[in-house]
Amino acid sequence: MTVVTRFAPSPTGYLHVGGARTALYCWLYAKKTKGKFILRIEDTDTERSTQESVDAILNAMQWLDLHYDEGPYYQTQRFDRYRAISEQLLQEGKAYRCYCSKERLEKLRNSQIENKEKPRYDGHCRDLKTAQEGNYVIRFRNPASGVVEFDDIIRGKLTFNNTELDDLIILRSDGTPTYNFTVVVDDLDMKITHVIRGDDHINNTPRQINILKALGVTPPLYAHVSMILGSDGKRLSKRHGAVSVMQYREEGFLPEALLNYLVRLGWSHGDQEIFSREELIALFDIKGINKAPAAFNMEKLLWLNQHYLKTSPPDHVAKELAWHMQRLDIDVSQGPPLTDIVQAQAERSKTLKEMAEKSRYFYGTVHFNEEAVKKHLTVEEVPALTILQEELGRLTTWSKEPLHQTIQQVSEKLGVKMGKIAQPLRVALTGDTVSPPIDITLALLGRETTLSRLNNALLLCR
Ligand code: GLU
Repeated sequence: MTVVTRFAPSPTGYLHVGGARTALYCWLYAKKTKGKFILRIEDTDTERSTQESVDAILNAMQWLDLHYDEGPYYQTQRFDRYRAISEQLLQEGKAYRCYCSKERLEKLRNSQIENKEKPRYDGHCRDLKTAQEGNYVIRFRNPASGVVEFDDIIRGKLTFNNTELDDLIILRSDGTPTYNFTVVVDDLDMKITHVIRGDDHINNTPRQINILKALGVTPPLYAHVSMILGSDGKRLSKRHGAVSVMQYREEGFLPEALLNYLVRLGWSHGDQEIFSREELIALFDIKGINKAPAAFNMEKLLWLNQHYLKTSPPDHVAKELAWHMQRLDIDVSQGPPLTDIVQAQAERSKTLKEMAEKSRYFYGTVHFNEEAVKKHLTVEEVPALTILQEELGRLTTWSKEPLHQTIQQVSEKLGVKMGKIAQPLRVALTGDTVSPPIDITLALLGRETTLSRLNNALLLCR
């Protein structure tokens, strides 16, 4: 049997990190089993679904590099199919037309609430023998007794009484299908073998199983993933910070860091924290997903991000850095290649946003920090900076080693520690007191920029 999983977001907003984790588990399980991963857009709620959200979801999936083998399928393009299946259920007596008015249903609901009963449809039209005049919805004829049981891969056996489930509407009076029904028809048509989704859908599962059984098919297997919590133990939401995948991109995270973080948030393989994609595919086990909800830990995500900034191929990180540079309006067409910046700055940046902000001075003009200028660009530094300018100007090879030697020789000549001249030099070239090692900074800036910046800085010394 080929495993087929699906990720089925409703396009009513951005891709939430919880959704991304579900998508990742679906993707991983399909990869692991050499199966198929499908993307399905559940856009039947036309009032809340937007094209913008569809695009946001597709962009986020692409950024995370969660490639789907099929799709995206759109439920709004499958209305004929849902109607055909509801017709089939009607004809087989497994669904029925319900003519109950809104007023009747509201009255029923109020009296149930008053009597402290769970509000549910009372089956008023269940046994109507003839068609009536007027508007109707189509309801599924849920079994009146017995239980629905399923073995959740993560939670074990779950049992629901049919008396708890009422005859749910599958087609509204305007002919549009409802959520539980479209999911069932799609899971069936798309031959889904494993439904991996958030545990907010647990209560829908017995309803969906009953419809699948009425259609004469064996339901797929289900795995309900627990939610992600914020640091205060409440469900992760905007109050806790970024929740949208693309917001993490904007904050400067690498997709592999976010994925590595998310996979561990709810799944583990011993104590291992860092997983390459290949390792994840090899080691992922759907049964290893935790039942208990996990709390989001920003520190750990930052730690992983820096790990990937330092260890991923620099040209890969540079591509992502280029996106941030553009966002900050930094023109990188003149200046050092971004791969060199990545190598020089990864050690001192936790995010790409930080790396981009800290690398402005490699491109365009220097913005001086007044405090740093006051402290380091003083008249006392003029001789040292002048000698440096001369000696550097004489260098024939502009690279780290000779640059290092030159600065060292100048400091020896002046009888001071290297740091004593490196700091004014750094302020002169970068505008501030923090940068990669001075020799690397100079190498990256290049001869021309270094010398002309030194010129300018000498004019600032007072
Ligand atoms: N469209 C549903 C949601 O976004 C998911 C449904 C499912 O996975 O079955 O919550």
